[in-house]
Amino acid sequence: QVSAPKKTESSKVDPAKADSTKSELTTGNATPLTEGNEDSEVDKKALREILEDEIIDSLQGVDKQAAEQIFAEIVVHGDEVHWDDIAGLESAKYSLKEAVVYPFLRPDLFRGLREPVRGMLLFGPPGTGKTMLARAVATESRSTFFSISASSLTSKYLGESEKLVRALFAIAKKLSPSIVFVDEIDSIMGSRNNENENESSRRIKNEFLVQWSSLSSAAAGSNKNEGTGSNNNNDEDDTRVLVLAATNLPWSIDEAARRRFVRRQYIPLPEDQTRYVQLKKLLSYQKHTLTDLDFDELVKITEGFSGSDITSLAKDAAMGPLRDLGDKLLETDRDMIRPIGLVDFKSSLQYIKPSVSQDGLVKYEEWASQFGSSG
Ligand code: ADP
Repeated sequence: QVSAPKKTESSKVDPAKADSTKSELTTGNATPLTEGNEDSEVDKKALREILEDEIIDSLQGVDKQAAEQIFAEIVVHGDEVHWDDIAGLESAKYSLKEAVVYPFLRPDLFRGLREPVRGMLLFGPPGTGKTMLARAVATESRSTFFSISASSLTSKYLGESEKLVRALFAIAKKLSPSIVFVDEIDSIMGSRNNENENESSRRIKNEFLVQWSSLSSAAAGSNKNEGTGSNNNNDEDDTRVLVLAATNLPWSIDEAARRRFVRRQYIPLPEDQTRYVQLKKLLSYQKHTLTDLDFDELVKITEGFSGSDITSLAKDAAMGPLRDLGDKLLETDRDMIRPIGLVDFKSSLQYIKPSVSQDGLVKYEEWASQFGSSG
């Protein structure tokens, strides 16, 4: 799950849509902060607050406190993950480029029939790279990125959650192009039939669906203008808001919500080649003795592992040479520590097991063939 993001200096403002305050802020961002630059850090912070206040004041019908909370807790920009950091998943990357990145970077090409989708779901077993993909999209699409989890939207005060949802969409529209990324979407979009569903989660879900629909109707409005020859992108910018979501439990998503995710991209367990690439990457900066044949063997024995299982395995194996040393580790020179070998992986494999069961996998594949988008 994406943790509540911290505000960073590079946060949230899309340079492309700069008004005067925004451009000031953006220009400010171009100068890297150094430790001796505290004054400018303070200036920027103040400037950012002014900008936030301006935006909040300009939003009508939006609760001020809720808007502040969205800014304070939710808005992040470009968490630096790039496509190349993610092993494999070529078709998912391609789908995301086509559905999100290209339309955001070249809105002029994606109109009318090519109108981008408003909802995309990434589903599959845990630890397969869904969150990483979302972060890469944030980096590559240069959009304002709202990373939210159910817990950041749920409030114990009745009615507060709906205000947060409204504020979220209002700010997302204001700062468009924007991506609203919801991790573990199943927890706020659970099926209506679920007996455990309580009043407050039903209300959040309904508000979310209402706000999301309002994006589609705005898009329908801009569709009408298509073909008028107008080159003015501004109206359409308001509609460049996409809900991107991830789930390990696609079958528990409410049907109405499921339909709104026009693209439903299966993120499966990594194939041989992907595991190979990931293992190579993980070991690329380490001293090791693994030969090509060893890698081939590792690829075979890690069949059924998720990307995060592989990361855990490699981390554990990397501890092997240190474990051998016991307390001697404290006085051993770094250069004297033996390289990581296949033997370390084999011993870690005794207790690092795949986290997804075969039965579990079948369930994902069935759901993918019934509801997934092909390709
Ligand atoms: P998910 O959101 O699908 O549960 P994450 O994207 O959070 O999974 O991945 C968890 C961790 O597993 C990542 O931080 C990364 O270390 C590793 N990982 C998973 N898939 C990949 C991949 N395709 N390439 C590289 N690392 C991966």
